[in-house]
Parts: sequence; C-alpha cells; structure tokens
Amino acid sequence: MSSLLALPGTEASAATGACPAKGRIASGYGWRTHPATGGKVFHYGVDIANTTGTRINAGFSGTVTYAGESGNLGRHVIINSSGVITIYGHMNSLSVKKNQKVRKGRKIGTMGSTGMSSGPHLHLAVKEFSPSPSGGDYVNPTSYFKLPC
Ligand SMILES: [Zn+2]
Repeated sequence: MSSLLALPGTEASAATGACPAKGRIASGYGWRTHPATGGKVFHYGVDIANTTGTRINAGFSGTVTYAGESGNLGRHVIINSSGVITIYGHMNSLSVKKNQKVRKGRKIGTMGSTGMSSGPHLHLAVKEFSPSPSGGDYVNPTSYFKLPC
C-alpha cells in the first residue's frame, strides 16, 4: 500500500475523482511479479479488493462507452469523461448501459471476480485519450484518485 505513494505522479492534490470503491489496495500500478509464472508483468491499473457486491461508483461524470462482458476484465464498464477514460473491471453486476450519461459518484455496479481474477476486486484503470489507434495511454490511477478511499 505505501509503495504506491513512492511512485511519481501520485500527488494527492491532483486526485479529484470520486471514490470508485471502498477497499484495500491489493496491487498498484506498475511492474509486478506474476503469481503463476514468476515473470515481470506491467499492471496497468490499481486493484481495490473488498467483498463481492461492494458498490462501484463512476469516478468522473461522462458517457458510458462500454458496459458488458468480454476478455480478461470480465464484466466491465468504460466511461469517457472529456478525454479521461476510466475502466472498471471484474464487476459482478452492471447498473449502467452503453451511451448512458453518468454523474461523478453515481453507482455503476458492484464488485465481483469475473474474467481473469483470483478474488473479488475492482481493477481500476485510467487512460488519457489520444486519437492514435491505441486510443490513449494508461496512466497511474492515483494521479486522478485518492486511494484507498
Ligand atoms: Zn488489476
């Protein structure tokens, strides 16, 4: 948990997002050792662990660009907030739909363990939009959120 604070760009003063989910930080943004292979893999988000059913909130007001189930993130929601894209993965239930406008702090679903996940947690990722084919670059969510919250 404290190792997060040592990373650059984590000044709390810049962290203005609403609390995405209450819980403990199970894994931060950056390099980590894969539990199965022992190899180094880059983790593009922050994992907030709590019990299944814990409320998940929109970090910023914006438009839901994805709400469904696919890939490693399982059931997940993506919100575009004027170029800052927030991604909420491994959810149990979703309470928003694609193209829906949501307000900061609104409930968007509940925590789960869908997709590639070993226990109930929220994988929170933040991308800064760019018109490149990748759609943007991942940044440390602690630049936008005061975590844990
Ligand atoms: Zn994660």
